[in-house]
Amino acid sequence: VRSRPFWLVPLLLAGLATLATLSGSQQPQTDALALVGGRIFTSPTAEAIDDGVIIIRNGKIAEVGPRRSVNITGGSTTINCSGKVITAGFQNSHVHFMEEKWNGAERQPASKLSEQLNAMLLRYGFTTVVDTGSLLPNTIALRRRIEAHDVVGPRILTAGVPLYPPNGIPYYVKDGAPPDLIKLLPQPSTPAEAIGFVRQNLTGGADIVKLFTGSWINKTTVMTMPNDVAAAAVTEAHQQGKIVFTHPSNVAGLEVALRAHVDVLAHGIEDTRGFTADHIHRMAAQKMALIPTLHLFSQNTNIDDIRREVRDHQQAGGQILFGTDAGFVPDYDPTDEYVQMARAGLTWRQILASLTTNPAARLREASRRGQLAKGQDADIVVLGSDPSNDVRAFASVSEVIRSGRIIFQNSQRGR
Ligand SMILES: [Zn+2]
Repeated sequence: VRSRPFWLVPLLLAGLATLATLSGSQQPQTDALALVGGRIFTSPTAEAIDDGVIIIRNGKIAEVGPRRSVNITGGSTTINCSGKVITAGFQNSHVHFMEEKWNGAERQPASKLSEQLNAMLLRYGFTTVVDTGSLLPNTIALRRRIEAHDVVGPRILTAGVPLYPPNGIPYYVKDGAPPDLIKLLPQPSTPAEAIGFVRQNLTGGADIVKLFTGSWINKTTVMTMPNDVAAAAVTEAHQQGKIVFTHPSNVAGLEVALRAHVDVLAHGIEDTRGFTADHIHRMAAQKMALIPTLHLFSQNTNIDDIRREVRDHQQAGGQILFGTDAGFVPDYDPTDEYVQMARAGLTWRQILASLTTNPAARLREASRRGQLAKGQDADIVVLGSDPSNDVRAFASVSEVIRSGRIIFQNSQRGR
């Protein structure tokens, strides 16, 4: 018998390894996770299911319903949710990964990044976040490590670097930053330059585009983006299937956004002078969404007017997306944002919509997330108390599940 050629052995081993990988990836049944007991709100408009059960398999919701109608199979991991409230995972549509502690995300210890993401986002139930401005390669590196399950975190959508008006860097970005660095920030003065910066961000992995159609260049002056520049940026983003967020600041900044057909206001209009019912109607007619960020403005003397803006937008049929500006605002706790939204006149169901179904719809992902229904992504929040009694309960998070994995558990709350 001739001996086998020496190169056959590694080839066979490689073949076996391939087979092993294939059989691993083709194994459809992972252990199920069962959330048992508790009050389930499958959507912002649904009646509560008391003493409900959710079965999660392969990152998706396999079953949801009252305990008597759901078959809890043996061998599944069970979380006792009695006395708790279960909703779809939350989206914070306005955050930033630009604090120094995120720098070098490529090489930082996984445990440190996981702890930071936990403190800023996971412990408050955010399974998806929109980063509306940061250094793109760094945020992409952070996202890559989360998606590789090296770091525990939410799904991150990012704008990369925002586009500013020419010589229109906000004073609070400029303060303390070296002038050389400020010059590098995108400040397109022509439509062609705007298109170039949008393409640069999207090529680099950005998911949305962020503009400053109105930029506070000092504490009293808003500089607007030229109309043709804003319009070119929006058109390019839309052609690439992406949505555009803007920082409006005042009515002039809103006007530029309306003319350019921006999709989302990343803040309420902070300087409310000149803001009228006509603006509300035009925002609604263009299906422009609004992220109130009321806590950020809660010390402004015109906070009542900003809250009224939010109420009127909701009443006109406008879409509201929840957002806090966490990461620019050093206080990550969203509790006061919920309180402020309620003070603006939003119901707890409207606030839940701003956290779940509204952002899913805005990002054209409603077919796979935003509700607790069979086949949807298993992005789930378990609350320690009931937001239908007190909206502060939205911030009292007990467990968070993303794509079927437990990514947060409040150890103090017990099981
Ligand atoms: Zn911001």
